[in-house]
Amino acid sequence: MNKQTISDIDVSGKKVFVRVDFNTPLSSKDPQADITVTDDTRIRAALPTLNYLLDHGAALILASHLGRPKTADDVQFAMKPVARKLEEVIGRPVQYIPAVMNDKVKQAAADLRPGDILLLENTRFHPGEKKNDPQLAADFAALADVYVDDAFGSAHRPDASVDGAARAMRAKGGPAVAGFLMNAEISALSAAVENPPRPYVAIMGGAKISDKIKLIENLLDKADKILIGGGMANTFLKAQGHNMGRSLVEEDALPEAKRLLGLAADRLILPVDVVTATEVSAGAPSEVEMVWALSPDKMALDIGPATLERFNAELQGAQLVVWNGPMGVFEVEQFAHGTNQLAQMLAEMVDHGAQVIIGGGDSAAAVRAAGLTDKMTHVSTGGGASLELLEGKELPGVAVLDGK
Ligand code: ADP
Ligand code: MG
Repeated sequence: MNKQTISDIDVSGKKVFVRVDFNTPLSSKDPQADITVTDDTRIRAALPTLNYLLDHGAALILASHLGRPKTADDVQFAMKPVARKLEEVIGRPVQYIPAVMNDKVKQAAADLRPGDILLLENTRFHPGEKKNDPQLAADFAALADVYVDDAFGSAHRPDASVDGAARAMRAKGGPAVAGFLMNAEISALSAAVENPPRPYVAIMGGAKISDKIKLIENLLDKADKILIGGGMANTFLKAQGHNMGRSLVEEDALPEAKRLLGLAADRLILPVDVVTATEVSAGAPSEVEMVWALSPDKMALDIGPATLERFNAELQGAQLVVWNGPMGVFEVEQFAHGTNQLAQMLAEMVDHGAQVIIGGGDSAAAVRAAGLTDKMTHVSTGGGASLELLEGKELPGVAVLDGK
């Protein structure tokens, strides 16, 4: 990566503002309940950066958004459970202040000693965050001597804590650099975008094509083949003239699906069979049907065994695989088979020297649920950010950091 990282600068005795991605799932939406963090993957992913900074004599001011709060203080999204979880995984005290910016925050930051950790309130509680308000950005920068962005998952959003704070730090003469997670994400994903080893096979799934038309187009440009499963395959199959019964089909996206098929029908590989049911629920009777003979009252909810075999054949010899989007409704065990089998196949390919990169929030969750995260070359922690990078876009949160 052509950006400076924390290992390029001196942080000893410095106060470091770190934009982290602690946007973690929570156990409850009820503000009265004892809310806990149910998956600490993103907190753990920040540890290399946080521990490096602490070990090198820095004091930390941490900021993150959490969920999508509707009002300025939607307490169900307060950072308190995150502070507790961070204390547990980092094994040090964490001072949490239930405010994004006020005199208490400024005083607490001024009082920090090397090794101390201060966690601010959910940045989205402040109306200036989403507006990239220059005053809030300057206030963030004023808390510290150094700005670090380790929030890859937020790098596609030019918010005050992501974009403005980095600019404000530079304006006052301090460095604005990437953390280790940010660096690892950018390096792994841009290798696939810029200089892919071949053969390069992309795999796309998930619910909708409409979210991912640009991504499919960019991948058609870069990859040798694209295997398509999940709900988005239904729209392509319908565009080819198949009757998809009651499956999720995006009627509005049919013209786009036809256009993409017209660009490269021979390189877009679609399912030949699917697992169908009349209901998306555990225990609903399901069967395997060929895509050209789907029952009119059924929904396609997973890819079938013949499709898995076809995909396996297409993957043979691939040197790079990029996968985004589950092959079925993986949240329901009965329809998770295609996704799990594919994850298993890809893990074996890594054992044989292929590079396998997973992007997308649900895809990463599916790989994690299958217990295969550590088997893959790279599983991105950033949902939307990883997709935008794979689309070939420059991320504002990366562009703003100091170059080498
Ligand atoms: P990612 O977060 O990895 O980018 P998406 O958000 O695009 O993935 O898609 C994930 C969603 O797609 C899951 O909630 C899953 O249930 C849904 N999905 C996958 N296949 C189907 C299908 N055949 N019918 C309906 N929904 C599907
Ligand atoms: Mg998703």
